[in-house]
Amino acid sequence: MRFVREAEVRAVPATPGQFTEGVWRADTITEAVGDGLRAQRFSYEPQARSAWHVHDGEQALYVVAGRGVVVRQGAEPVAIGPGDWVHVQPGEKHWHGAAADDTLVHLAVTAGGQTHWHEPVTDEEYRAGTQ
Ligand code: MN
Repeated sequence: MRFVREAEVRAVPATPGQFTEGVWRADTITEAVGDGLRAQRFSYEPQARSAWHVHDGEQALYVVAGRGVVVRQGAEPVAIGPGDWVHVQPGEKHWHGAAADDTLVHLAVTAGGQTHWHEPVTDEEYRAGTQ
């Protein structure tokens, strides 16, 4: 068993190309075995967001604070707020980000498998997702 103390967690800028500027990532649970469970906390400035991406495994998002949006390709955007969960299914192309006028903090718990990064979310796609 491994205990993770908030006091030991450090946020770093999220990887360019995977996220816009203004996103911070804190790795909280790292894989105990190969291809295992991992958990992170993401903090977004207003309008900051991920690129389009696909997870091989399942992903659970839990919103801690602020307001944001999750968009699955081909589906209507869904606004998310504190206490909400999102269960992303394997293979669903999607992005997540903050609202235009609020920050967003969410946890991401990701099952095994890779994350495949695709193109950035354009300003037009972002506006369509957050109106
Ligand atoms: Mn995701």
